[in-house]
Amino acid sequence: MAMKHLSRTYAPHAGAVEGAPVATRRLRDLAGVFADSAAYQAACAAGDPVIYTVASVEPADGDGQIHYGLGTLMPGMIGDEYYCTRGHLHAWRPAAEVYIGLSGVGAMLLEDERSGESWLEPLGADRIVYVPGFTAHRTVNTGDVPLVYLGIYPAAAGHDYAAIAARNFRALVVARDGRPTLVQRAGDGTAAAGRAQEHHHV
Ligand code: ZN
Repeated sequence: MAMKHLSRTYAPHAGAVEGAPVATRRLRDLAGVFADSAAYQAACAAGDPVIYTVASVEPADGDGQIHYGLGTLMPGMIGDEYYCTRGHLHAWRPAAEVYIGLSGVGAMLLEDERSGESWLEPLGADRIVYVPGFTAHRTVNTGDVPLVYLGIYPAAAGHDYAAIAARNFRALVVARDGRPTLVQRAGDGTAAAGRAQEHHHV
């Protein structure tokens, strides 16, 4: 049977795609993500803000099919760490993804599962990021307006959040002297102060 009604309206500044369900992630949904647990608890108690939403479009499943989602990540900080998504690996590890920035300023924190290497790639209104397979990915808003983007991925990719929940990303993005900086995570989960790498692209 032919697929029809394939074109949808979308409103990037409202985080909406016609007919698409929207998942909302509040701060309380992101337990264990942010390094500063005292700041995390205080921000939860102070109102548990929405951190991001994703409107997902899944026209069909199976080999060769594609899904996509419109993500909206709010600006803000927990301690000195920028708001970010939970992040994930794909359950089907070889599956790649393309992120197309629509508005705002930020980055994708990438981590190669096989080497453990972490790095940042800029994502924003004028940036597209190709995320290779076998690479954990988390979106970070380093600006002061919502970061809006489309993620386009194989329908068969699946989302593996458990691997990230078990050990979090090895690095995090914090403001150091007002600039987004990638730092390694210390053994106790906090940002390791002595190993900052300046990141000049975001
Ligand atoms: Zn993905």
